Amino acid sequence: MIDLHTHTTVSDGTDTPAQLVNKALAQGLETLAITDHDAIAGWTSATQTLRGNLKLVLGAEISCLTHEGISVHMLGLLFDGANSALLEALENTRDERLPRMRKMIELMRADGIDISITDVEAAMPAGATMGRPHLADALVAKKIIQTRDEAFQELLNNESKYYVAHFAPTPVEAIKLIRAAGGVAVIAHPFASMRGQILQSSDFIDLKAAGLNGIEVNHRDQSNEERLSLLSIASDLDLVMTGSSDYHGTGKLNSLGENVTDPAEWERLEAMADARRVVTA
Ligand code: AMP
Ligand code: FE
Ligand code: FE
Ligand code: ZN
Repeated sequence: MIDLHTHTTVSDGTDTPAQLVNKALAQGLETLAITDHDAIAGWTSATQTLRGNLKLVLGAEISCLTHEGISVHMLGLLFDGANSALLEALENTRDERLPRMRKMIELMRADGIDISITDVEAAMPAGATMGRPHLADALVAKKIIQTRDEAFQELLNNESKYYVAHFAPTPVEAIKLIRAAGGVAVIAHPFASMRGQILQSSDFIDLKAAGLNGIEVNHRDQSNEERLSLLSIASDLDLVMTGSSDYHGTGKLNSLGENVTDPAEWERLEAMADARRVVTA
């Protein structure tokens, strides 16, 4: 099994990178990618924990915004972790997440919701990429809401009056950064309409021109119809098709390996990186 999209405590997952690698080993996964939001801080510990036959793909999920304000997630895999332009872009995005969180909290407090930045910081592991899931966890800890999912349904989704966007590169910029760092770019859950506004089919032409390598087709937030549309876009534009779990530990229902990538598709994708960077024990 090849799972190319997972999260750890370095962003909004609940397993540490070492726990994630151990889980993948226990489940007999062949290949695991670690793709925390806007961060690569889990790479070292995941690499150190690696053993047996498991292959590790180091990556990140870059938060992007189109010029129209549509939120897009770009998976960067197999890029050079020392590339300064990419590292700088990730750092800028992370830095902007604190003022953004403060704004969301201000809006909620104005409506009488008793939540503070201290509550959010108490709900997240030290050094993690701060995101809405941590705000959700803080609301749960204060018994304002029952679960992370309910927090998103009621208060934190992209259409909510409390939602605030944060600085992010455009999808085209993210693809160029990833490719310039030698990696491959796969657009994550592009048609997950349940999460909010999505791209149009015609948008993929520009992404392909910028160097997009693949599309995440099989993902639990995409309906069969959405997956079929993506499948036809991928075959029209000669893009690799992937499937993955987007595992977040206990933070979400997604279980490790619930969607996987075909070995032949992975082989094609891996060959598009500028060097062999899959980590083995
Ligand atoms: P942020 O990066 O702070 O905007 O938060 C985005 C993250 O929130 C995503 O990567 C998901 O992990 C999580 N998320 C987004 N929408 C939902 C949802 N409807 N239910 C649960 N989690 C969600
Ligand atoms: Fe997440
Ligand atoms: Fe995502
Ligand atoms: Zn993800």
